[in-house]
Amino acid sequence: MKITDLKPTALWGHFAEICNIPHPSHHEEAIRAFIVDFAKRNGLEHFVDQANNVIVRKAATPGMENRKGIVLQAHLDMVPQANSDRAFDFTKDPIEPYIDGERVKARGTTLGADNGIGVAAMMAILESKEIKHGPLEALFTATEETGMEGAFGLEAGELRSEILINLDSERGHELCTGCAGGTDANMEMPYQAQPAPQGYAAVTVEVKGLKGGHSGIEIIMQRANANKLLARTLRPHLAAGIELASIDGGGLRNAIPREAKATLLVKGDYLATFEEAVRQMEATFIREFKDIEDNISLKVVHASDYPKEVIPAAVARNLMDLVCIVPDGVVKMSTSMPGLDAGARADLQQLRARGLRW
Ligand SMILES: [Zn+2]
Repeated sequence: MKITDLKPTALWGHFAEICNIPHPSHHEEAIRAFIVDFAKRNGLEHFVDQANNVIVRKAATPGMENRKGIVLQAHLDMVPQANSDRAFDFTKDPIEPYIDGERVKARGTTLGADNGIGVAAMMAILESKEIKHGPLEALFTATEETGMEGAFGLEAGELRSEILINLDSERGHELCTGCAGGTDANMEMPYQAQPAPQGYAAVTVEVKGLKGGHSGIEIIMQRANANKLLARTLRPHLAAGIELASIDGGGLRNAIPREAKATLLVKGDYLATFEEAVRQMEATFIREFKDIEDNISLKVVHASDYPKEVIPAAVARNLMDLVCIVPDGVVKMSTSMPGLDAGARADLQQLRARGLRW
């Protein structure tokens, strides 16, 4: 069976066409021309805006002219990734979709269902003579995957409708009514490193074994953040007998930190106290994240090198205070939509039933 045999055929037919057109981010000319051509063939009003978004309008079916207008939106580009054993040029080679049981996959590459299936659904609705609807606007946005350039470049007034339905959600048969926001913050705390005191024990404190995950998608699971665990562990001891030499945690700006570590100097007579406190914190974290994390590890190990410099105590204190106080995880659910909170809880239960994994 080919994907063009799948139902609804209008949707899968368009998806198959999209697979044939190379469309990695920043190489979207061909797929843009394909949408423009499709709009022309169907006699639909359309234009390409200054941000390379394509907007197509379809009038309401007779009798539905007074309904609120709706924008359907999907993005044109896809993430290009090929298996290491597959020579593949995403700017030239067509994606090869195939059916594997209940799933459509691609041979050796990403499929581009994100967001090709949304684009295909919009095309199927735009050309349908049967589906009844109010005024429709189809917004095909440019270059989403590498920075949402099309969405950011969309100018006020380009669209007329009041409601937007985004077709880039993760799961079928569900409408996504909100999402975690995102912000990047770069903070700098300049300091003059101080010479390390001599005769201390050089140790590394490491947080490991956390699940991590995407900062938008898995944030609802309230997983542990390695940076937070480490800062909470170190903070009470800064005035008591430890000096912070270096600290590092997390990998990507949109990933929940899975690991963090700090190199410290600990006063000789304080080492046993500190090690016991770390053991207790590990037990606390294991209890605190019961049912969420199952492999939390917080360990003190002897450092191989004795650090030459340390961070001044006041700076270390400020840094640990900051990491402890900065919000993390789901802080608040919107109350603007009735049932949103309950919906999120049901979502979380479903995820738990699936073993907390995607
Ligand atoms: Zn997407």
